[in-house]
Amino acid sequence: MTHEELRSTLHGELLEPGSAGYDAARIVWNGMIDRRPALIVRCRNAADVVASVNHARTQGLAIAVRSGGHNVAGYAVCDGGLMIDMSQMNSVRVAPGLDRANVEGGATWGDVDAATTPFARATPGGLISMTGVAGLTLSGGIGWLRGTHGLSCDNLISADLVTARGDLIRASDSENTDLLWALKGGGGNFGIVVNFEFRLHPIADEIMFCAPAYPEEHARDILPQWRDYMATAPDEVSGLAEFSTIPTDPAYPEETWGRRVLALATVYDGPADEGECATRPLRSLGEPLLDFSGRTRYRVLQRIYDGLFPKGRDRCYWKSTYLSGLDDDVIGAMINRLAKRPSDMTYASIWKFGGAVQRVAADATAFGDRSMPFMLSLDAIWSDPADDDANIGWVRESWRDMQPHSTGRLYLNFPGLGEGDRLVRDAFGAKTYARLQQVKRAYDPDNIFQMNQNVLPH
Ligand SMILES: Cc1cc2nc3c(=O)[nH]c(=O)nc-3n(C[C@H](O)[C@H](O)[C@H](O)COP(=O)(O)OP(=O)(O)OC[C@H]3O[C@@H](n4cnc5c(N)ncnc54)[C@H](O)[C@@H]3O)c2cc1C
Repeated sequence: MTHEELRSTLHGELLEPGSAGYDAARIVWNGMIDRRPALIVRCRNAADVVASVNHARTQGLAIAVRSGGHNVAGYAVCDGGLMIDMSQMNSVRVAPGLDRANVEGGATWGDVDAATTPFARATPGGLISMTGVAGLTLSGGIGWLRGTHGLSCDNLISADLVTARGDLIRASDSENTDLLWALKGGGGNFGIVVNFEFRLHPIADEIMFCAPAYPEEHARDILPQWRDYMATAPDEVSGLAEFSTIPTDPAYPEETWGRRVLALATVYDGPADEGECATRPLRSLGEPLLDFSGRTRYRVLQRIYDGLFPKGRDRCYWKSTYLSGLDDDVIGAMINRLAKRPSDMTYASIWKFGGAVQRVAADATAFGDRSMPFMLSLDAIWSDPADDDANIGWVRESWRDMQPHSTGRLYLNFPGLGEGDRLVRDAFGAKTYARLQQVKRAYDPDNIFQMNQNVLPH
């Protein structure tokens, strides 16, 4: 099929270098990524996805699949090859009964929240509304509702996807069950999801967002108290302890600009009155420099951080590791490392796991073992290309320093960039990786979907 024949079968647009809209369509979130696909298909429906996959396969073109474009390693866009842009397939339909929603494969979490919250329902997403449902869910999905309802992938009931052969199939509890297991954490390896079906949960009208920001120099005193509080906190409490710097921005008091802080960002999934009581201890662990706490609606909460993460502007390198504990020695080692971060735009977060996340068996999903109590995510962000080496080097050295305290695994949605083949195997562990390989051989034996955290068929 020629490009013109492909164009004539599509409901969406086909863009080539020089087409209007080509440059805007190839921009992804990480400003370090500047790739030029030979073709971009802006899909409108499943038939466009089938036509694109068949065209790429028969023409021998590499395939990149883009939803929210937030993958920090830039897998949503390729040099040469065909970029399958799902972002216009973003409709969300809440089912009568309000217990489930159908979400098209290119939707963002903002699209989901906009459709579900008017019915006082939600399903666990991420912390930023522009992040794609697809990438986040397929590698796990860690957000504010994890204590009560688990990871995003734990709430996936079924998925419709286009396979490497161009077939449209369903993965559910009764059809292609191995595939449903693999989609719950195994990434974009097995096909292009055109529809996700998620379980919905009631969400309170107003919930509590608790976020005191303590001076970073007090972290050695605050972090152990946070750890102890989180150890006995109810499932409704999900949170992270986040190192960052107050930006030079009139939105913040001038005397705090440039101050490094440790913010204890916490959400209580339940009525705001209850949440305010439950999280109050976190606000008096010391003397906060600022306190961003307040009652809010879930949909507003989901956009609170959006302005801090603009698309395509900054250079980024993020890498995570699961911690097996957070004793005072680990805290000390971490604080020493974090103090050396070269950029004030950088975040480093300690995410707490517990509640519903840990009640899912290790072999129930490709996400695997849930026993780790914490994840450290080192999110370097900077603006000048001359600072690339310093920032990437800082993350890699810090990550290495923390390995004695790690479970040895990491979160594949915060995976680094250009880390080598072993990373994916190590992240899954040998047993899960071998099972994923079996599924890969069944659905994509020639590995045409390889712009992802790639599971090799053999
Ligand atoms: C600012 C920011 C905030 C974040 N916050 C969180 C957070 O709170 N919690 C969390 O868990 N993660 C978070 N992440 C990480 C995020 O989950 C990953 O970056 C994820 O890959 C983004 O998904 P996407 O659809 O936006 O990405 P894309 O870059 O579009 O795609 C990511 C991967 O998924 C594949 N893919 C995309 N669409 C499909 C599809 N329809 N079918 C099959 N495969 C597909 C792509 O090929 C690619 O490999 C954040 C990332 C950023 C940049």
